[in-house]
Amino acid sequence: MKNVDTGALSTAGGTAYKAMSLTDGEIATMSDQSCAAMDQKNQVAPANNKYTVRLNNMIRQMPTTVNGRPASYKVYLTEDVNAWAMANGCIRVYSGLMDLMTDDEVRGVVGHEIGHVALGHSKSRMQTAYAASAARALVGAVGGTVGQMTQSQAGDLAEKFVNAQFSQSQESAADNYSFDLLTERKLERKGLVTAFEKLAKLSGPSATGSSLMSSHPPSAARAAAMQKRLDSAKK
Ligand SMILES: [Zn+2]
Repeated sequence: MKNVDTGALSTAGGTAYKAMSLTDGEIATMSDQSCAAMDQKNQVAPANNKYTVRLNNMIRQMPTTVNGRPASYKVYLTEDVNAWAMANGCIRVYSGLMDLMTDDEVRGVVGHEIGHVALGHSKSRMQTAYAASAARALVGAVGGTVGQMTQSQAGDLAEKFVNAQFSQSQESAADNYSFDLLTERKLERKGLVTAFEKLAKLSGPSATGSSLMSSHPPSAARAAAMQKRLDSAKK
């Protein structure tokens, strides 16, 4: 796509094509800017905050890199129950989730979010968000590569990324990734079951808007699937 007429790229079809052909480097650049925009918009817990201290403790045995990029774990101080990860290693856990969950459960959720990155879901989610975002016009503007976004473009892209839903099969695959990750690191896996049981109880009108609590597949079914794996692992 290097020598394509930029005029063609500014059409809707060209934008969609470009979004699906974004390189890993471009995705990382977009993720860096989106993550920074989210950090601007949310209240990031300072280093000495009790949530930061707790998160740093609980991720000690969790991955320090994601897809070859250093993992950056931070807490957002908000009542929202959510967590997400981007392809550049940006991992954000909301204090509302930490209030609701034990350390084992938070690790299960973090493993799930890392799974979305490792399995390539976050990349395709960013491509989709990009195709629908105000930032897509940038492609034409800078000759087919992703350039510096404005704060508002990056914020718009980040919102679309964070609020987009994963497919049912992607959610199940990320759950299994987390189960395998916890197994490999000899960490308690029961938290993966109880985390989804808690999310199932929360499901309802207040749970909408958070992809973590997306109703497909239902949280109760995901808890049962993890319990099944746990049962067969113990046989
Ligand atoms: Zn997910």
